[in-house]
Amino acid sequence: MSFKDILGHTKEISVLVNSLGANRVAHSLLFAGPAGVGKRLVALEFARALNCRNFSGDSCGECADCALMDSSTHPNLILAGPSDKEGQATPEGLIRIERVRDIQNSIKYRVERGKKVVIIDSADRMMTAASNAFLKTLEEPPADSVIILVTSRSSDLLPTIISRCQRMNFRPLSPGVIASFLGKKTGLPAAQAHEAARLSGGSFSKALSYAEEGEYGKKREIALAVAGISPADTDTALRLASELSKRDDLAEVLEFLKTWYRDRLVGLTGAEGLMVNAGASTGVSADPRRIIDSFSMIERARRDIMPPRYANKQLVMEGLLMDLAGCFGA
Ligand SMILES: [Zn+2]
Repeated sequence: MSFKDILGHTKEISVLVNSLGANRVAHSLLFAGPAGVGKRLVALEFARALNCRNFSGDSCGECADCALMDSSTHPNLILAGPSDKEGQATPEGLIRIERVRDIQNSIKYRVERGKKVVIIDSADRMMTAASNAFLKTLEEPPADSVIILVTSRSSDLLPTIISRCQRMNFRPLSPGVIASFLGKKTGLPAAQAHEAARLSGGSFSKALSYAEEGEYGKKREIALAVAGISPADTDTALRLASELSKRDDLAEVLEFLKTWYRDRLVGLTGAEGLMVNAGASTGVSADPRRIIDSFSMIERARRDIMPPRYANKQLVMEGLLMDLAGCFGA
């Protein structure tokens, strides 16, 4: 993998390459943007470029440093996230202060050549104590290190952390780019690749999941069931809440549900061409204010079930579905 193999993000990549060529690489970078668009991939590639012996606009892919980077065993590469030193996910899904201390120890010593690169995935999951400890490193970064914070929820980061990083905003990928790569990678027929790309909202990983046989149909059925609960039909709302709360992919289901309500709003403006889900208006109120309220309720529920809140899924879903059903009746 090198920069030239990365989908999209040409502007962000050229800023990084130019900073490297001019020897003016920022000590701390924040890669912000939707999940699944390739932020981490660009971070990994930048780490490789920073350490390649033959760097010339792109890493060479042939030197010993490139090989070590490719196998994630380069001593200058430190990967972190909501996991411990051995890569085991922390049970609460958060980045602990111990992990931040490990990183601080690893970057204390000067490197022989190249630069130490720390990539922190899901940086928004840092516990408060971890964030505060990490701030010290951002305030006085070691001379030969580059810290890259990767996040799809930058609003959850402390403002003091954000202000100390050079921010790069990664945008959703274009459906055309996704469809063509999806076709090449999975051998999916063009029509299906385009359909998955259109549904993905610019996220390659979402497109991949929609490309899986039947995946979209399943999410669509759920959305139809939720939007179709009769006003004040508490029994159906509670039964569906109980079913959905047992799903491992509940957060994704809620993300999908948001696109359903977003589409309804788009449909009301007459811009049907911009709707992602055909027929998304089924069962949803025609009152724009109510649709926006429903959208916010779904997002609130999604946040509630995620770390650090970890609210009881069944209770959250019961509240959400009863709220949504009540809205339609009023
Ligand atoms: Zn190389």
